Amino acid sequence: MAGLLQKELGVLEKSYYEASVVRAPLCAPLQESMAVDVCVIGAGYAGLSCALELARMGYTVALLEAHRIGWGASGRNGGQALVGFGAEGEHAIETQCPREVARAAWDASIDGMRLLRQRIGDYGIDCDYISGYLTLALRKRKSEALRRWVEHMARVYDYPLQWLDRAQIAGHLNSDRFVSGAYDAGSGHLHPLKYCLGLAAAARRAGVRLFENTAAFRLERGREPVVKTAEGEVRCRYVVLAGNVYLGEFGDELAPELRGRIMPVGTYMVATEPMGQARADALMPGRAAASDNNLVLDYFRLSADHRLLFGAGETYSAKAPRNLVERMRVRMTDVFPQTGDLGVEFAWGGFVDITMNRAPDLGRLGNNIYYVQGFSGHGLVFAGMAGKLMADSIAGETSRFEVFNRIRHRRFPGGAMLRAPGLVLGMWYYKLRDLL
Ligand SMILES: Cc1cc2nc3c(=O)[nH]c(=O)nc-3n(C[C@H](O)[C@H](O)[C@H](O)COP(=O)(O)OP(=O)(O)OC[C@H]3O[C@@H](n4cnc5c(N)ncnc54)[C@H](O)[C@@H]3O)c2cc1C
Repeated sequence: MAGLLQKELGVLEKSYYEASVVRAPLCAPLQESMAVDVCVIGAGYAGLSCALELARMGYTVALLEAHRIGWGASGRNGGQALVGFGAEGEHAIETQCPREVARAAWDASIDGMRLLRQRIGDYGIDCDYISGYLTLALRKRKSEALRRWVEHMARVYDYPLQWLDRAQIAGHLNSDRFVSGAYDAGSGHLHPLKYCLGLAAAARRAGVRLFENTAAFRLERGREPVVKTAEGEVRCRYVVLAGNVYLGEFGDELAPELRGRIMPVGTYMVATEPMGQARADALMPGRAAASDNNLVLDYFRLSADHRLLFGAGETYSAKAPRNLVERMRVRMTDVFPQTGDLGVEFAWGGFVDITMNRAPDLGRLGNNIYYVQGFSGHGLVFAGMAGKLMADSIAGETSRFEVFNRIRHRRFPGGAMLRAPGLVLGMWYYKLRDLL
């Protein structure tokens, strides 16, 4: 029954992250008919965060995950914990919404970072968090755009980013590829799967009933919705859809209204063999995470055990690229030629959920079905916050969630068909925008 996206991911499931965690025993699949207050679908950051908050407020919660916890983007990502929605996302919000709404959205993202740091502390989540993030420009034109963005962040959001010229970049990373950069002390990076599993452990301790290998394949709507799985069902008052790009890949389309509003874009990562502390310190002395400011971008950072983790957008097809390791190695050595002798021990990939305007897509279908999606490569921090905003909204505090209802989202050209052939076209569209 698995859809196209899952088949592709199956090929690339062995990530460095999976290899560096010890998972708790499998949560048994749902094999009963049960009744709860809220049924959450999807155990990534959004679903786990929402379930955790609701359970803390006294709601009974069932959380259904089609695979294992963190199987989706939350267990595979670049680990870059970023405030905000990226320059494009912010621009979309600012042009569509009044100033105070844009400010409220930004403040929610700052609170998202606060929430992440607080949870790491409160729940003792050991996930190698390190502060510092660099945005880097490859060309003069990109540098000018970066400069404008730094000024904009200071003027509109009072958010300080430190401008770096070529010489100052050397204090952060040993590469002569970039012409300028911006340093963000308020963002950082972490081991994404350790963080995700930590959230799941906290949710379980708070009373959430978690079911792995349990795909929701049908949703019967109404005053008391029913979520059907292969061997059971959940009756509830509210449903939370946090299935990201995979949501409609099992049986019935759970929410056809959402189809085509996000596009899955394949992005891939490699992890080198450990290079030892001295060499890692020489490569990226500040240990900040980094990415360039292209739309289809390269992103990289060091792991706690001194590997280079390097990610890049794949622009040609939804299929896992052939010669993935070689292609990634070329991009990695373009940035860091001195890593050419390092072995690549892991290669994996996933799909980023991109909206047309790159702002997140949060909303409600009727009175009792909530959804969040479309984090557009900025979900590590904000998906968790979106989960909390949904929980607060279910509990009656709707105002902060509704800020995001003000953002209009369009379907990608090709709508429902885009997940198959149109995907290739969409990827070329982004690549072309970077090149022009
Ligand atoms: C390779 C990669 C690198 C990235 N790098 C970064 C980064 O550095 N920084 C950043 O901020 N963001 C990054 N992102 C994006 C970020 O990881 C996501 O925005 C975020 O994890 C989304 O969380 P989520 O909970 O919405 O979805 P997911 O983590 O994808 O979770 C959705 C879950 O729902 C389950 N599911 C779906 N449908 C059903 C169903 N019908 N029944 C049961 N379960 C279902 C899936 O199995 C999945 O586990 C990256 C993404 C990828 C793929």
